[in-house]
Formats: sequence, structure tokens, C-alpha cells
Amino acid sequence: MSKAIQAIRGMNDCLPGETNKWQMVEQVMRRVAGNYGYAEIRMPVVESTNLFKRGIGEVTDIVEKEMYTFEDRNGDSLTLRPEGTASCVRAGNQHGLLYNQEQRLWYMGPMFRHERPQKGRYRQFHQFGIESYGIASSDIDAEVIMLSARLWKELGINEFVTLELNSLGSNQARADYRDALVVFLTEHESKLDDDSKRRMHSNPLRVLDSKNKDVQALLIDAPKLSEYLDEESVEHFAGLTKRLDAAGIKYTINERLVRGLDYYNRTVFEWVTDSLGAQGTVCAGGRYDGLVEQLGGKGTPAVGFALGIERLVLMLTELEKLENIRATTDVYVVMSGEQAEITGVALAEQWRDDVAEIRIQTHCGGGKFNKQMKRADKSGAKIAVILGDSEIENQQATIKYLRENKEQQSVPFAQMAAVLTELI
Ligand code: ATP
Ligand code: MG
Repeated sequence: MSKAIQAIRGMNDCLPGETNKWQMVEQVMRRVAGNYGYAEIRMPVVESTNLFKRGIGEVTDIVEKEMYTFEDRNGDSLTLRPEGTASCVRAGNQHGLLYNQEQRLWYMGPMFRHERPQKGRYRQFHQFGIESYGIASSDIDAEVIMLSARLWKELGINEFVTLELNSLGSNQARADYRDALVVFLTEHESKLDDDSKRRMHSNPLRVLDSKNKDVQALLIDAPKLSEYLDEESVEHFAGLTKRLDAAGIKYTINERLVRGLDYYNRTVFEWVTDSLGAQGTVCAGGRYDGLVEQLGGKGTPAVGFALGIERLVLMLTELEKLENIRATTDVYVVMSGEQAEITGVALAEQWRDDVAEIRIQTHCGGGKFNKQMKRADKSGAKIAVILGDSEIENQQATIKYLRENKEQQSVPFAQMAAVLTELI
């Protein structure tokens, strides 16, 4: 026997027992985005490598070490998208959707990053994202955050996530702060780990993000970003927190929150949980007023977030919020005898015509009654509809309840659609 081919490490199959959970979660996300008037946008999975280099920043973790980049047959450098925002801006610019307009968009789909696979961290993973263009005021930052908060509420996990907020200020404020931080870090360089030493030169704000406890202890005395914020950004942030307070959305201000992508300014936020171990950020976003222009469009303010669907599904599973998801089948039709087999399939077609929502599996492949009933049970269906010689003769089917302790009943064919509608 030849060796079976396996999936690529960190790129997972989503099997039937899981896909129904995903569908439920996706449905909630689609509906909530719709509740706020957001429209879906779908971008390609492959883009020019330059889009991400220019958009995300050359010295970010993503661009430096996580991208799947390859040469097309004609020599162009292409990359499997590591995130959606740069693609969304590219699409918006290309189709003239952004400048002097307001756009509220959402997307969902696979992203690719060459990271070390572990729980909550994969090489192909999925994001649901929100992007809003053309509004500079903090009301839209608040809206985007409220939309994310509504997702947790709808999924029953709002007690298990907390919102961390920060403001990065204007580009100028951040540049001034960066200089002050580099001075501080240089003074204490001997106490930094290798990662932080490297970042100190390439992307000093990211040192604030270090998971190293000694580095964190050192940073207590570091200059604070809040001391460098420009007045407009301070006002913007106050506008946001006032709105969140009014809507009853709790948050903590985390002065060390800087995010790993270069394009953010002013508001940044993360929803974090302790139900997932090390990979605790479920959703992250912020304002990126400079990105549209940086990618060749005309200046357009923007704000958005991306949510990691794997982490969300893991969290929902661990918190047992996905226990009552409907199986894929409602009704299983058991047929014994040649005439029953033919009539049963025709009847199932009729019921599917009559009741669009119903999900019916008809038994295929024949076999004994008991074997068919085992299959019915395994299918997850709530009821089995049984057809044998006597049922055909009397023009009625027997309904057997598979999940409830209820007497079986006989129902005339003509009333079946109505009865099934009641039962499902
Ligand atoms: P992290 O700090 O965990 O690496 P990040 O800052 O790189 O996250 P973003 O680029 O902001 O993440 O992506 C938004 C969300 O997408 C994350 O909060 C997370 O839920 C999810 N995500 C990011 N990378 C992965 C991955 N490799 N596998 C699974 N989910 C991921
Ligand atoms: Mg990352």
C-alpha cells in the first residue's frame, strides 16, 4: 500500500461534527453584521506580496517571518493573504468605494501565516472582520466595538471576555514617543532579551508587547505613551470611552497595548479571554486612518477589527455553549420491502417540496429493519418515519420518536407534511 498523504501541518480539516458548530457561529456573525447595516465583501486569497509589505509594514512579525510567499509562473511575487484589512483597502481603492464615501463592510475567510502550530494558533486559520471607511469621529470606533460586544452576547460568552483599550495617538505623537522609548531601552539594553533587543531597533513599540516577565518589570519605569498623546487623540479617546460607558460596555485601559501591525493610529483594542491559555486574544482591531493613502488611495479614515474564528469556536466548545446544535438530519426514512423503498423516496421528495426547512435522509442500500433503525439513530435525526408493506397498503406512515420517550404514531400520507412541520 502506498503511503497516505497528510494535510499540511497547521492546516486543518473541519470535519462534519465541527462544521455544524462553525455554521452556527458564522450565521451569528453574518446576522449581527447585518444588524448594523454592514455589507459583505469577498477578496481573493492571493495578492501581490507588495500589498502586505506596504500595508502591514516590513518590520512586523507577519511580513518578516510569517508570510507564505511564492513566485507565480510568470515570476511575480505572490502571497497567501495573512490578514484581510490590506486586501479590503486594495479592493476599495481599486473599485472606487472609499474616497469621500462611507462604507461599512465585513468579510470572512481563511488567512495564512507560517507560525508554530499549537492550540489556538494555526497556519491556515479563519477570520471574521469588520471594516468601516470614511468616518473620522469616535462614534464609529464605538459602533465597531459594540458590534463585537453583541457577538459575545449573542453567543453567550460576554462574561468570559474582557475589552482592553488604548490610544496610539497621531503618527507624530507616536514618533515622539518612540524616540523617548528607544532612549529608555538603550539605557537598559543589557536587561533586555534577544527578541526585545532586535525590536528595539526595528519596531520599538512592540517591546511593550513582550511576554518576558523581566522585560515587563523593566517597562514599569518606561515613559508612557499616554504622556505623549496629542490633544485631538485624547479627545477622540474620551469620545469613545464616553460612548462605551453609556452603552454599558466595560473595558480596561491597557497602556501597553500596541498591536503587531504598523497601520494603526489612535484607538486600538483587543478582546481577551483566560479560557484559552496562552492564545488569549479572540478579536483585535483599531483605527487605521493612514492605510488607504499608503496603499495608493486618497486619504480616508478607517476603523475595524478581525476575529479569530478557531479561537472563538474553541472557546465556545470549552464553555459548552455548542452542546445543543441541531444535528444535520431531522427525519430518517426507514423502508422495508420493494414497494416501500420506491414509495418512501417519492414521499420524501414530496415532503421536501412542501417544507423547505426540513432535512430528511432516506435510507439507501437496503438491509434489515434493525440495521436501518441503527442508522436512523446514528444520523442524529429526531424521528424515524417507517414504511413497510402494511403502511403502503394503508397509505400511512409510522412515526417513531428517537430522542423522546413517546408512543409511536400512525399518520396518513396526506397529513405527513403538516405533522412533520409541527415536529421539527
Ligand atoms: P497573536 O498575538 O495571537 O499572534 P495577532 O496580533 O498576530 O495575534 P491579528 O493579526 O490581530 O493577530 O489577528 C486577529 C485575530 O486573529 C487574533 O486575535 C486571533 O484571534 C486570530 N489569529 C491570528 N493569528 C492566528 C493564528 N495563527 N491562528 C489562529 N488564529 C489567529
Ligand atoms: Mg501573530
